[in-house]
Amino acid sequence: MKVLVIGSGGREHALVWKIAQSPKVDKIFCAPGNAGIAPLAASVPIKADDVDGLLEFAAEEQIDLTVVGPEAPLSLGIVDRFEAAGLKVFGAGRDAARLETSKGYAKEILLKYNIPTARGRCFDDYDEALAYLKELGGAVVVKADGLAAGKGVFVCNSEKQAADALRQIMKDRLFGDAGNRVVIEERLEGEEASFIALTDGETVLPMPCSQDHKAVGDGDTGPNTGGMGAYSPAPVVDEYLHRKIMETVMVATVKAMAAEGVRYRGVLYAGLMISGGNVRVLEFNARFGDPEAQPLLMRVKNDIVPVLEAVCENRLHEHTLEIDDRAAVCVVMASGGYPGAYKKGMAISGLSNVNRMKDVVAFHAGTRAKGKKVVTDGGRVLGVTALGKTVEDAIRRAYEAVAKISWEGAYHRNDIGHKALKRLVE
Ligand code: ATP
Repeated sequence: MKVLVIGSGGREHALVWKIAQSPKVDKIFCAPGNAGIAPLAASVPIKADDVDGLLEFAAEEQIDLTVVGPEAPLSLGIVDRFEAAGLKVFGAGRDAARLETSKGYAKEILLKYNIPTARGRCFDDYDEALAYLKELGGAVVVKADGLAAGKGVFVCNSEKQAADALRQIMKDRLFGDAGNRVVIEERLEGEEASFIALTDGETVLPMPCSQDHKAVGDGDTGPNTGGMGAYSPAPVVDEYLHRKIMETVMVATVKAMAAEGVRYRGVLYAGLMISGGNVRVLEFNARFGDPEAQPLLMRVKNDIVPVLEAVCENRLHEHTLEIDDRAAVCVVMASGGYPGAYKKGMAISGLSNVNRMKDVVAFHAGTRAKGKKVVTDGGRVLGVTALGKTVEDAIRRAYEAVAKISWEGAYHRNDIGHKALKRLVE
């Protein structure tokens, strides 16, 4: 069969890498792809948000299965368009993806169906929002409703900070229309974890839990990024919590969406805050996390393609995921300066040394081929991911691989997985 993967980051490289192992697959295309994906999938020069172009390509090439990586095409309704054209496509429909694309909608669903979340409300009106801020006090979080490239969330320490955030979103319109509405909620304390499941709208098949590292600097310091690393499993989620999350969050959310008349199909990702055995939802995403997808997909042992097809065909109950007992750790190597300004086009050396390592993959995120060389082409450049008997072992192996790769200005955190280690020592 022919498979098309949409996107160009580390998540998509991991998807292509996993799909390429399927005996069912004869040919993979990736639109637009990157230098690491190119040896596994034919690059298609169509951008991930060019829904018309992608639809035309998929129809012409008679693609048997399309897998959508990022949120932008989901928010544009790519899944609905493909389905209407009779093409099999893995991903959330536009209505389902609203759980990610509108934080206000997600909050309304959480509150309406008693899915555990922070106390909070949505507002279209600035004055009402300001009054609510005052009612909640200083420790609040102010969120722009729409997609804001991960920058629309303000975690505040004081009422003044929160009022500033509200003004920036609603009055200064820092994120344009994405700030027509806001969510204001109490600030939660605890440890964050990502819980990702596949669902066909009825069956919910959990992947192992994982944790990412958003801040750019060691010790979770400095500005937030798309993610500087991730690992799985996350020891903060024990078996009891896993069951509780499945029941009270994942299955409850899929059922809630069904009650709203929306069949949720694809990836459901819950960003959770965990504290003293309590779980609360901070956010939903309608796609795999990046970089969480890299360690997660390395831990899936069975062929993923029949599972993805079963999601599209509402028969996920026929499948399970076989998970490697080993841990996986992904260390992101980024361009110096990221998440601020950075240079592109730096030649990367050492990739072939890593390619020879067993159970280690350097997933490409922002790379491009230039003649015979691979050069940097983004903020996050590589997601170097390793399996290991324990989290500690996987961390050691991932950093062993990172040490073999270099380019001018390369940067990475030195403490990916530290939270897991700390918890395991305790
Ligand atoms: P992403 O870039 O992962 O999509 P986002 O911009 O969609 O993130 P959220 O994930 O909702 O926004 O929030 C970003 C971060 O803000 C969370 O990972 C968490 O660290 C913090 N956060 C959000 N809500 C709360 C809360 N109620 N209490 C404490 N921290 C919070």
